[in-house]
Amino acid sequence: ATAPYDDQNIFAKILRGEIPNKTVYEDEYALAFHDINPQAPHHILVIPKGAYVSWDDFSANAPETEIAGFIRAVGKVAREAGLVEPGYRLLANVGMDAHQEVPHLHVHIFAGRKLGPMLA
Ligand code: 5GP
Repeated sequence: ATAPYDDQNIFAKILRGEIPNKTVYEDEYALAFHDINPQAPHHILVIPKGAYVSWDDFSANAPETEIAGFIRAVGKVAREAGLVEPGYRLLANVGMDAHQEVPHLHVHIFAGRKLGPMLA
């Protein structure tokens, strides 16, 4: 069972404009903004506008238009930031073992330095 969505989570507040963010990109399906604690020269978070707890919730329950719109937005953010040629990494943490801290789906984009072969 999927945990219920908590509309007081920090990214819900960002989507409602209740707390500020450094927006990189926004469209009907997604909002992208700079991570507050960057782990690479480029560290962008991309979140769907819909209320989904995690990748698991989103992939199981979102309408296909929202899934397509979100995935296209993630690609567009990286492309428009010029990250395709040097390369970038996508990461989505799901649940406790992965240290998902914010219960609204977010995809991390990391780039701008040599990343290790894989995160530990
Ligand atoms: P997680 O561990 O859930 O995959 O990643 C959560 C990410 O959200 C972390 O990288 C953290 O730095 C970032 N973050 C947490 N709170 C805020 C915030 O209020 N604003 C922004 N821009 N990023 C945040």
